[in-house]
Amino acid sequence: MAFESDVIRHLSFEMLQSVPHTAQYMAQGGTSALSDELNHDITKLKSFRTALDEKLTTLSRLSRTNALHRELEAIRLLSVQVQRNLEQTAAEVKELQKQNKPLSLTLIQRTTQDRTISEIRRHGEVLANLYNEKAQKLDALKKEQYSARLLGMGIWMAGLVLGWVVGLSFAWRTADRILKPLLQLDELMLNPDKNIATTLQSPSFSKAPREIISLSGSFYKLVTESLSLTAQLKDLAHTDALTALGNRRRFDEVFSQEWKRGLRSRQPLSLLLLDVDHFKLYNDSYGHVEGDLCLEKVADAIKSKVLRSTDLVCRIGGEEFAILLPETGLTEACRLAQVIINALDSACIDHESSPVASWVTASIGVASGIPQQGTSQRQLMEKADQALYHRKRNLGRHGVTAADPWPSSL
Ligand code: GH3
Ligand code: MG
Ligand code: MG
Repeated sequence: MAFESDVIRHLSFEMLQSVPHTAQYMAQGGTSALSDELNHDITKLKSFRTALDEKLTTLSRLSRTNALHRELEAIRLLSVQVQRNLEQTAAEVKELQKQNKPLSLTLIQRTTQDRTISEIRRHGEVLANLYNEKAQKLDALKKEQYSARLLGMGIWMAGLVLGWVVGLSFAWRTADRILKPLLQLDELMLNPDKNIATTLQSPSFSKAPREIISLSGSFYKLVTESLSLTAQLKDLAHTDALTALGNRRRFDEVFSQEWKRGLRSRQPLSLLLLDVDHFKLYNDSYGHVEGDLCLEKVADAIKSKVLRSTDLVCRIGGEEFAILLPETGLTEACRLAQVIINALDSACIDHESSPVASWVTASIGVASGIPQQGTSQRQLMEKADQALYHRKRNLGRHGVTAADPWPSSL
């Protein structure tokens, strides 16, 4: 379309240049001026036709047989006719020149009224209209192209926004499906608790990808094993290896808890401190290994008499045991202490070198009281220890001694 419009523009211009103006010279000049002008017009017509032929060849190659093509063919034929007429007039003018005669009226009339020239002008107008039409179509086409480009840009932008939205939602889904369970795993790793199974069965895990589910399975195994190991370690750290009773650490912990509980409940708390009599002599007589066995038997004897689940028996030193009795008064504590002394007597573990008896005996100091603000469990401990010391040093061992009643004694 652009090519055709271009062709028409050029041809219209060239045609206007080459359409003969001979008539006005006929009116003005003589035969000489007319002859020059005729030759000039013929030359211009020839070069116009050469240009026209080239365009027609190009159009034929493009197989365009439209209105433009038809117009150009008509113009070409007319231009041949015009040329012939001009050549004939030129020949006649030349003859008149030779004979030195003026221009005849017939010649002037024939030339000025040449229908071929007015025909070629008419075709020139058609060509100009065609050009306008084509130019308008080209304009419309350009506008369409511009709109199409705008539409394309709009579509491109919409695609970009859509891609962004899709990408964002994908990232959101990924975060929800992958990051959320991973963060939960991280949190569980830092604070593993017993509810781990419930957490791992939550929807954020069931929706997670297979790899995360598998990871959480391994993680569950790892954490439960670690929790169980931690519990075991904690247990070991609070257990006496020889007697399987609680050790000093466990005793201190529970004693502190019970003391605080007593502060709130205003219930009495009793403590028994038991020391095996002349145990050094036992070791000396029977050896350290037998000494260990003896300590185990003492522990069994004590345990057999301390039956309440809330009571606590611990080995807090070499041959020293502590028995903690929550919600127990002094009388009841002393009674239990005596029961333990009797149990050891009944166990009758040989102790041939003991100055007290021929079997293993023990001394027990008892202290009891209601925890109060401004007092501490350490004071209760001291009371029981003092009572035990008094029994050991002054009362001949193998028996129970109670500290002064609580709380006036503190
Ligand atoms: P007392 O009647 O005044 O209490 O005299 P004791 O000999 O029982 O007390 P002492 O403090 O003089 O000696 C305690 C002994 O307990 C010393 C130590 O060898 C022994 N002993 C401490 N722990 C263990 C242990 O785990 N196994 C054994 N076999 N002996 C231990
Ligand atoms: Mg001792
Ligand atoms: Mg002792």
